[in-house]
Amino acid sequence: MKSHLAHALVALMIACLWSPLGMAQEDAPVAQVEASKLTDTIYELTCSFGYPVNVVASVGPDGVLLVDAGFSGTADAISKTLIGLGGGPIRFIVNTHIHDDHVGGNSQLGEAAAIIAHSNTSERLSGAYFSLPPIPTPGAPNLDVDGEVILRFNGERIRVFSPTGGHTDGDLVVHFTDSGVACLGDLLFSETFPFVHVARGGDAQRQIRTLQELAETLPSDTVVISGHGRHLSIEELRGYATILEETMGVVHQALAKGKSAEQIHEEGLLQPWVTWSGDDLTSSKSWIRWIADSLKWRQNDVKPSICEPLTETIMNTGVGAGVEQYRQLASTQSGEYDFGEYQLNMLGYQLLGREMTAEAIEVFKLNTEAFPESGNAHDSLAEAFMVHGDSKLAIMNYERSLELDPGNTNAEQKLVELKK
Ligand SMILES: [Zn+2]
Repeated sequence: MKSHLAHALVALMIACLWSPLGMAQEDAPVAQVEASKLTDTIYELTCSFGYPVNVVASVGPDGVLLVDAGFSGTADAISKTLIGLGGGPIRFIVNTHIHDDHVGGNSQLGEAAAIIAHSNTSERLSGAYFSLPPIPTPGAPNLDVDGEVILRFNGERIRVFSPTGGHTDGDLVVHFTDSGVACLGDLLFSETFPFVHVARGGDAQRQIRTLQELAETLPSDTVVISGHGRHLSIEELRGYATILEETMGVVHQALAKGKSAEQIHEEGLLQPWVTWSGDDLTSSKSWIRWIADSLKWRQNDVKPSICEPLTETIMNTGVGAGVEQYRQLASTQSGEYDFGEYQLNMLGYQLLGREMTAEAIEVFKLNTEAFPESGNAHDSLAEAFMVHGDSKLAIMNYERSLELDPGNTNAEQKLVELKK
């Protein structure tokens, strides 16, 4: 998080988060889309850009409805594939959740479409950040669904609804009721343990309950499409939920005995289910962590960000008052908020993205004061000075950053540019 401006920050963070699923950073990914016909109007598009994600298209006389938009890098390939399938204009895009591999194609594919998402997804994609005004983002959803909406499109009834919860706090399920196809997004990783994005409001226990509810309420001949991996029958979905419930039981028991997530992993308590262990985010080790983190979150062990009160003060009273408030809260209520280095760094980039450069500089300065040994904090401050046109202070801070973190190639490059 060294040189990205805030308007790209959310998407980038999500992209970074996802890259461990199998994409080596140095390999330039190739966009590929493979279509398979599920019913007269429904197609599954397997979109690859380093790793595969499933997009579903309803193609018919009313035009095209997409469930998810794939990566930004696969948008052109999706367009071409849809034309090849005889598809007309894209009228609707439903985002099953916020991750970049599901919303990345929104702006390219959704120019003439209504983009539907859960309000939590919409809010984050519109660039909202605590009390700061949102940064308008191309491709942000323009239709929020928190309960249920029924679309009548291409001759069928399509239910779009928000489930009990799970992968994030902004999941949507799309049920093509006449075709008998249900799209679950990343509520379902059909061949591995799931990734539960707890920091985005995901919850392992709720995810399992959602899958169980869907297995009970969807018609028994429904084809269930996952975000990643093969599709399942309702019977298989029930089996998958059972495996998650069993493994969660084992982890809960061990946590109750006072074991840590690391100990549970090292003792191999999920070894009997090792075939379900996937890549980084979906390994058995991660599954243990998502379960433990979900519990922590429920028990409120996770503190609110210090940026929550801080942005309010900065917006209402100015950055000087915000700095004062930070210092005061850090000395009197340090246990009440998350004072991690990442917090002020994130706020600084949010301010930069809103062209509040003077405020951003003060916030980054405060972070170097709180974390004087952090190369990244100095790198961010240097960047803000660079944006402000203050080369001297930018150079000074990049040099300090490089001293603290000799592996910071970003600082190296910026120093070359600045000294030209
Ligand atoms: Zn996801």
